[in-house]
Amino acid sequence: MSSFSVLGLSRAMQTNLDRLGYQQPTPIQAEALPAVLGGKDVIAMARTGSGKTAAFGIGLIERLRPRHFAVQGLVLCPTRELADQVAKALRALARARHNIKVLTLCGGVAIGPQIGSLSHGAHIVVGTPGRVQDHLRKGTLSLAQLSMLVLDEADRMLDMGFSDSIEDILGQTPPTRQTLLFSATWPADIRRLSEGYQRAPVDIRVADTEPEPDIEELFYEIQPGQQTDALAAVLSQRQPAACIAFCTTKQQCDDIAETLSGRGFRALALHGDLEQRDRDAVLVRFANGSATVLVATDVAARGLDIQGLPLVVNVEPARDAEVHTHRIGRTGRAGEAGHAITFCTPKQGHRVTRLEQERRSELAWGETAELLAIPDQPVAPAVRTLVIAGGRKNKVRPGDILGALTGDAGLPASAVGKIDLFEFQSFVAIEAQSARKALRRLEKGRIKGRQFRVRMA
Ligand code: AMP
Repeated sequence: MSSFSVLGLSRAMQTNLDRLGYQQPTPIQAEALPAVLGGKDVIAMARTGSGKTAAFGIGLIERLRPRHFAVQGLVLCPTRELADQVAKALRALARARHNIKVLTLCGGVAIGPQIGSLSHGAHIVVGTPGRVQDHLRKGTLSLAQLSMLVLDEADRMLDMGFSDSIEDILGQTPPTRQTLLFSATWPADIRRLSEGYQRAPVDIRVADTEPEPDIEELFYEIQPGQQTDALAAVLSQRQPAACIAFCTTKQQCDDIAETLSGRGFRALALHGDLEQRDRDAVLVRFANGSATVLVATDVAARGLDIQGLPLVVNVEPARDAEVHTHRIGRTGRAGEAGHAITFCTPKQGHRVTRLEQERRSELAWGETAELLAIPDQPVAPAVRTLVIAGGRKNKVRPGDILGALTGDAGLPASAVGKIDLFEFQSFVAIEAQSARKALRRLEKGRIKGRQFRVRMA
């Protein structure tokens, strides 16, 4: 395979890629980068994990003019989680050049601080369509000098109803801009978007080399009202380190998560009614392993980049086969079998029958009475999460938190896990048996010379 050196990248970028451990381009990067660096429009079929962020990010950063203080690059993403992830990746790539400012503009958080940050100037904006549109309307963001626009996970943005917003935003950019469109699927409305807004795009489709995940599925017929007991039984039996349980309604998510928590399981509900702060907290706790069960609606889970779970449970069968496939697709890694379990009441039987017809193969059913006889045995998570009421805006950095925990004969660094910083709060994963000690230290001690409120999540 070719290395990055044949792509004509700046020396600084090559050194930086080396530091990031990128030795050679992924297939999508090898195909897309020459076009991106050459200023051409690109339409690329790429999934998360393909290296698509660097495929546009390297080009975006190499082509920027750092001394020119105007928004030159805009990346539109379907969700805040993805936008945060992309911004983080771009900042890492931008270490190759001095003074490149990357700003995220997403909904669900106060707009005031974003306006403040915009007034200081930014080279690259990463955001969700709704909020970017808000700023354009208010006149706090101008795209008049934009040279590169990226639509990331364009199919998901269209699925989420952002089509009008995207067209509105595109209409406020110079027609000379370079437009890069990344999408995991190829429906007609993606092709229309490309035809409407791209000039002679280079079409890139990299063969999917990852094997289809191998998913073992099992179905259980249950009676209405047995969902929570059946879920508790599956969790007790299989002891998954992480599991998403899909529900249809927000109320059902809350009820099941609450009942499970009352029975000792570390379960959290995720649905569209959560405030952004709470959503952040839920996702961090699930990602760092301190909560093991996420009880979620399809809509809330759609924006998540959670893959490779050991277990997915459908508390109710999905209404159609496509949603079912999408749900269970979150389990199983390449080369490792995933497990998916679906509960179905007699009334919901037709949904499963349809699934069976589409697959043209028989489904495997488990013994419900045996399942329901399993006593509760909650999975004990190895970590707990501490929440600190201070974040990036308080100038707190991960190193400060680590220092406060480990300094002066404090905790060993090995007891401290992932540290997640947000604007005004931070989350620290701590080995369960050290969690109380860590809490006491942070309550008494100081971070960056200041005392912050701390609590156990
Ligand atoms: P993405 O598909 O953009 O989400 O990237 C998936 C992961 O691959 C990220 O963790 C990247 O840091 C990593 N990555 C991207 N490009 C390369 C590369 N050329 N070599 C090694 N890792 C990479």
